Amino acid sequence: MDFLRPATWAEALEAKAAHPGAVPIAGGTDVMVELNFDRHRPEALLDLNRVTDLAQWYDDDTRIRLGAAVSYTRIIDELGDVLPGLAMASRTVGSPQIRNRGTVGGNLGAASPAGDSHPPLLASGATIEVESTRGPRTIAAEDFYTGVKRNALEPDELIRAIVLRKARGPEQFAKIGTRNAMVISVAAFAIALDPEQRAVGTGIGSAAPTPRRATDAEVFLAAELESAGLWESRGAIPEGLKKEFGERVKQAASPIDDVRGTAAYRLHSLAVMARRTLGWAWAELQDDQRKAS
Ligand SMILES: Cc1cc2nc3c(=O)[nH]c(=O)nc-3n(C[C@H](O)[C@H](O)[C@H](O)COP(=O)(O)OP(=O)(O)OC[C@H]3O[C@@H](n4cnc5c(N)ncnc54)[C@H](O)[C@@H]3O)c2cc1C
Repeated sequence: MDFLRPATWAEALEAKAAHPGAVPIAGGTDVMVELNFDRHRPEALLDLNRVTDLAQWYDDDTRIRLGAAVSYTRIIDELGDVLPGLAMASRTVGSPQIRNRGTVGGNLGAASPAGDSHPPLLASGATIEVESTRGPRTIAAEDFYTGVKRNALEPDELIRAIVLRKARGPEQFAKIGTRNAMVISVAAFAIALDPEQRAVGTGIGSAAPTPRRATDAEVFLAAELESAGLWESRGAIPEGLKKEFGERVKQAASPIDDVRGTAAYRLHSLAVMARRTLGWAWAELQDDQRKAS
């Protein structure tokens, strides 16, 4: 097996164009498992670790441009205040060793429906910058996942960066697993509230062939908050509204039974997580208002 080690982004793109079958490797926490279990023998590995730009993030005023190879540990340590939803999800990934190596670019490359970065990327309307020697293009997170462990990358393309809006309001993430740590999600949910735009974002994980948004639930909740004047007053959200939001999130999912959980459990847990995360996010918004007054 060839081991390609480009030193620059341009060299990486040239190597991928010349060897479309080469498997990129960033943290290696998915790739090495595949190789060690002999599930996959690629013709070549394309090591991205010398392309230092991929491991940087940039602050462009209202947005963060997160290099594909920034580790979860750095997201937690350096970006928790501006990307709280992604940082929360990052804290739940694997163990400290996995978080030191694992990256959002790798999570997107693997495109597992259970990947923990996907729900917050969806909830916050992130976009993915991909590139080949033919040129760059930008893909909305919701269009990036095309099937179970499949994504929208062409064989000659690499992920360069993920562009995320800095949080304009509270963001929350919740995950159900079979134990408290080192666990793949049985179901996961992320919410992002944008009081400026009076908008709600959501992301569902592990409960459909791909990560996906609960668009109907988003539109419903934003409109109900508007018509009750709650975006303005920050008054308590009625329990019935939280419950209906949870039901609509549940309706957006289409899970299966598997070794980690049943479809019925996944649906139930999603409704509960949606209701709870909304409660936590709204309490944060109320707190912010109290502090400001
Ligand atoms: C013990 C253990 C626990 C884990 N726990 C979790 C967990 O709790 N939650 C979770 O979501 N995941 C978990 N994972 C999976 C893994 O850690 C994550 O998916 C991680 O984000 C992968 O990142 P990486 O940089 O290591 O990817 P790699 O292994 O380097 O790559 C993963 C995939 O992405 C592709 N790729 C990487 N970079 C690029 C790029 N720039 N452009 C195009 N393709 C690229 C690779 O070719 C490969 O297909 C766990 C893994 C292990 C071994």
